[in-house]
Amino acid sequence: MSDNFEKVNCNLCGNSEYKVIFEPRYDLEKDKDYAAKFRSSGDELLIDQLVACKNCGFLYINPRLKHNIILDAYRNGSDETFVSQVKGREVTFGKCLDGIMRFYPHPGKILDIGTAGGSFLHVAKQRGWDIHGCEPNRWLCEWGKKHYAVDIKPGTIFEQKYPQDFFDVATLWDVLEHTPDPKSVLCECRRVLKKNGLLVVNYPDIGSWIARMMGRRWVFLLSVHLYYFTRQTMVKMLRDSGFSVLKIKPHYQQLALSYIFSRSKAYVGAIGAIGENISRMLSVGDLNIPYWVGQTLVIAKKRET
Ligand SMILES: [Zn+2]
Repeated sequence: MSDNFEKVNCNLCGNSEYKVIFEPRYDLEKDKDYAAKFRSSGDELLIDQLVACKNCGFLYINPRLKHNIILDAYRNGSDETFVSQVKGREVTFGKCLDGIMRFYPHPGKILDIGTAGGSFLHVAKQRGWDIHGCEPNRWLCEWGKKHYAVDIKPGTIFEQKYPQDFFDVATLWDVLEHTPDPKSVLCECRRVLKKNGLLVVNYPDIGSWIARMMGRRWVFLLSVHLYYFTRQTMVKMLRDSGFSVLKIKPHYQQLALSYIFSRSKAYVGAIGAIGENISRMLSVGDLNIPYWVGQTLVIAKKRET
């Protein structure tokens, strides 16, 4: 094991014993440039060892790159691939905000953690919310300022030192499974939320029927994902962090057809490449279509203890 790697305990229960689910495939490493690998649109297939905690069943990568190397990689580099899909993300986030406002009808202070280029903040601002956001990647923070004129603070949630009981809603869109210590992120969210504040998390569910059917070909088995939640482990982590779960449902995202085909090449090879060519020939590559491969949305409320 190289000096760059560390062994970690289960983030859900603290246990150190595990069984191996997928053996590592380090020979398939295509990019040793960690800043290229750890970015919002990172799409390198999972090559690390996936394990299950012997005590609670939580699935996670172990050993893994040291957390400071991962965070440094996220801070640096640019991500043109990610921002090329903002139109689809704005459509998705508009629908997400509709869902949030069914539980929290009056716009207040909203915090988006790991906001990338700020697409969600842009949509929330248009609906009258007082927006706040942070993002480790400096290039994406600058992009958000230029493109949307939204103020995004560089860094993690821990570096912002937000006051406690401050926000009405906190959101984590495709973020929690990337963080080295998700339980601490959820506890920090609880600290900064007001009484009865809402937490919104979406994540790829490895227990979903489609993930189980696809096995090792499931599209969310990626090197950037350090944790793999099921409905059970997500609910347990939220409860242990001081939240009550209000709703869990499938989460449909909108992406351009050409982007979906391009990303699927790694899994279905020729079919993805043919689809990409056809969509280009028919000039429908820019068409945003909803897709679902196990993404799941959870709405939870801060619990008073
Ligand atoms: Zn565990």
